[in-house]
Amino acid sequence: MHDVTADGAGVAGVSYSAFSGWADRPTDFAPMPEGELTCDIAVVGGGYAGMATALRLAERGADVVLLEAGFCGWGGSSRNAGYLSNALAGDPRLLNTLYARRLPDLVRYADEAARFTEKLIGRLAVDCDYEPTGNVIAAVSPGQLRRTERNAGILRRAGADVEFVEGRDFGLPHTFLGGVFERAGGLLNPGKFALGLRDALLASDVRTYERTAVRAVEPHASGVVVSVAGGRVHAERVVLATNAYSRDLAIAPRRMVTPVWTSLVETEPIAPERLVATGWTRRTGVITPHAILENYRPTPRGTIMFGTRRLRTTRGAPTNREPDDAVVADLLRGFHERFPSLVDVAPRRAWGGWIAMTSSLLPVAGEAAKNVFYAIGCNGHGLAQSPYLGTLLADRLAGDRRHEDLTAVWRTRPRFAPSVLSAPTLHAAWTIDRVSDRFHRRRTLSSQKR
Ligand SMILES: Cc1cc2nc3c(=O)[nH]c(=O)nc-3n(C[C@H](O)[C@H](O)[C@H](O)COP(=O)(O)OP(=O)(O)OC[C@H]3O[C@@H](n4cnc5c(N)ncnc54)[C@H](O)[C@@H]3O)c2cc1C
Repeated sequence: MHDVTADGAGVAGVSYSAFSGWADRPTDFAPMPEGELTCDIAVVGGGYAGMATALRLAERGADVVLLEAGFCGWGGSSRNAGYLSNALAGDPRLLNTLYARRLPDLVRYADEAARFTEKLIGRLAVDCDYEPTGNVIAAVSPGQLRRTERNAGILRRAGADVEFVEGRDFGLPHTFLGGVFERAGGLLNPGKFALGLRDALLASDVRTYERTAVRAVEPHASGVVVSVAGGRVHAERVVLATNAYSRDLAIAPRRMVTPVWTSLVETEPIAPERLVATGWTRRTGVITPHAILENYRPTPRGTIMFGTRRLRTTRGAPTNREPDDAVVADLLRGFHERFPSLVDVAPRRAWGGWIAMTSSLLPVAGEAAKNVFYAIGCNGHGLAQSPYLGTLLADRLAGDRRHEDLTAVWRTRPRFAPSVLSAPTLHAAWTIDRVSDRFHRRRTLSSQKR
């Protein structure tokens, strides 16, 4: 078995990255602005949300400036696990309790988001290894299986394109008993997707500036002034697409998002027949319904990538970092438990990124101050949702009536409840998951002995 002990020097054999394992940093940075610029709309942040917003506004004839602190795609957009999913964050039963009347609208929004982003990949011809396999919220215990069956029913009644499936028949790895099959979406390389969007952006009429951190956004009688190190941008309107980093800006509504650090690990390549021997004959992404999910997916590099389980948060501004040793070691333990026949397979790489969680578990869009809008906080589901949300906001700013899917997540007032996410609550959720895993292991062992 591969050594999972973490001694502060990193898990043996794993190379830790402070960026992403999916793509290399570009070397051809867009310029930094100098002096005074004017435009119709300034977009702050160049992740999926900001790039999609800017591209759509430019298509609609607006004069757009995009300002990105690093390079476009630098944040979660290049780092994520690559599940293009039609799911909302949060357990469906909880969502049904919190949003009984709104759930069909929210489900329609999430479903449309997956289809929109799939079409966007095709329309821009982005080569990002997209495989339309769908994804499965897959149970590892009979208790979880009952919960996923009930959740499939809740989602279907709300109009979601999902189905309850059994593991053996469906081609899931043997430890997974079945779950909710989300038919829309699939798996892709998010780094290639983000850099493909960046190529489209740099080729468009959008004036893009990189290595340009916005320091202040100030509404004035005649528009909005955006301050950066080298000068100022005078815009009629501004879109904040700063996601987990929104706390850095005073104009962003207080408590809008809680940044949560999420980690991923990738193995060495595995012979295809060994993968098939685990029962994973259908190359769907697998996500568990634990309080804090685990995810496992095959990659086009012949490796397995897995993540989450243990989350970190911060009270201050999110700073760039590498995953913690303890988190990587814990993820590896999870991998060994779910794939016992692959314990000899070595982990090779680890990286992570900040996601933006909201207290409502829903993405948020609205007007933070006069002429300052935001499209933020997809709660770890932004691969499908962020480009869609940005595009819907762009259409609204270009003069369209507010689309019903934008209305589904629109905030009429920029007021946000305090988050329950803190180091103690995240640790408690992790502990509950491990206790339930242990309980299931013991039951399985005693039924095997009988
Ligand atoms: C490890 C990990 C795994 C994930 N897995 C999945 C998954 O499988 N499926 C899924 O749907 N989602 C997943 N997500 C979430 C997904 O990546 C995000 O929801 C999505 O990328 C959000 O896009 P965004 O444009 O809103 O934010 P980001 O990509 O974070 O972009 C925000 C950008 O704003 C810039 N910025 C911030 N402040 C300023 C400023 N003051 N001035 C200028 N620029 C600024 C940042 O530099 C950054 O580039 C995952 C995220 C992580 C980190």
